[in-house]
Amino acid sequence: MFKKVLYSTDFSERSLAILDALPEFKCLNVEEVVVLRVINLTRVLGVARGIDIEAYIEEIEKETVPKLEEIAERIRSMGFNAKPIVPPPAGDPVGEIVRVANEENVDAIIMGSRGRSTIKAILLGSTAEGVVRNSDKPVVVFKNHTPKVFSKIVYAYDFSERCEEVGKFVKFVAKSCNSEVIVAHVLEKGEIIEESKLDEIEQDFGSEGINVRIVIGEGSPSKEIVRIAEKEGATCIFVGRSGKKSGVLGSTADFVIRYSKVPVFVV
Ligand code: AMP
Repeated sequence: MFKKVLYSTDFSERSLAILDALPEFKCLNVEEVVVLRVINLTRVLGVARGIDIEAYIEEIEKETVPKLEEIAERIRSMGFNAKPIVPPPAGDPVGEIVRVANEENVDAIIMGSRGRSTIKAILLGSTAEGVVRNSDKPVVVFKNHTPKVFSKIVYAYDFSERCEEVGKFVKFVAKSCNSEVIVAHVLEKGEIIEESKLDEIEQDFGSEGINVRIVIGEGSPSKEIVRIAEKEGATCIFVGRSGKKSGVLGSTADFVIRYSKVPVFVV
C-alpha cells in the first residue's frame, strides 16, 4: 500500500525535521523514498521584472543538487532506497509536487505545513492544502515533529463514502504498526447519534484485532477533531479530503491541517 512515497521538502527546518520521523514508516513496508525540491518560481515571477530567470534557476539548482544528494544518503542509511529528483523542477510547488507524484507513481506524499493563522494566509491557502486539493494521492502533512507517529490514531469519521475509504488506510496502518485507534465522530447542531453505525465500526475494527474506541464530539467537526486528538494524546489524525463540508475557506481537512499539532494523514 505504501511501497513508494514522495518526500517533498523546501529545505526549511520544519520540513527537514520530517526526516527524523521517516524510520517510523518502516512498519508500513515503505521501500523507496523519492526526494523532491521544487525551485519555487511563484515568488520571483511576482516581483521579477528584469530578473534573469534562467540564471536564477541555475543558481538555485547548484545549491539544491548537493543538498538533495545529502538527504538521499541519509534516507539510504535508514534502510530505504532513495531517489532524488535531479535536476530539480522549477515552477509552482503545488503543481510540480502533484505532477512528480503522478509521474513517479508514488503511493503517498509526505510533506510539511506551517499551518495558517491570518485571514490573508488562510485565503491564499498553503502548499499542503494545494497538494491535498489537487492530488488524488494520500498526503501525510507533518506539523511539528511527533515521535511514534502511528502509535495512537484519531480517525475522523462522518459516515461519508470517503470516510470508508479512509478507514481502509486506518486499518492497514493500525494492523501494520500496532496502533491504537480512536474513532472520532462529531455531532453538529441538531444531529443525533447513530449508535448502530458506530457500534458496527467498533466491531469491525475490533474483529481484526485492533484496539479501538469511539469518542463523540459536539460542534464544529474540524475543531472538535483537533480537540479530541489533543485531549487523547493522539499521535496522528486520519481525515478524508472531501467530507460533507467544503466551504469558501476550505474543507474540514483544510482546517484540520491548519490547526492540528500532530501529523495529518489525508486520504
Ligand atoms: P505550507 O507551510 O503548508 O505552505 O507547506 C510547506 C511544505 O510544502 C514544506 O514543508 C514542503 O513539504 C512543501 N513545499 C513547499 N515549497 C516547496 C518546494 N519549493 N519544493 C518542495 N516542497 C515544497
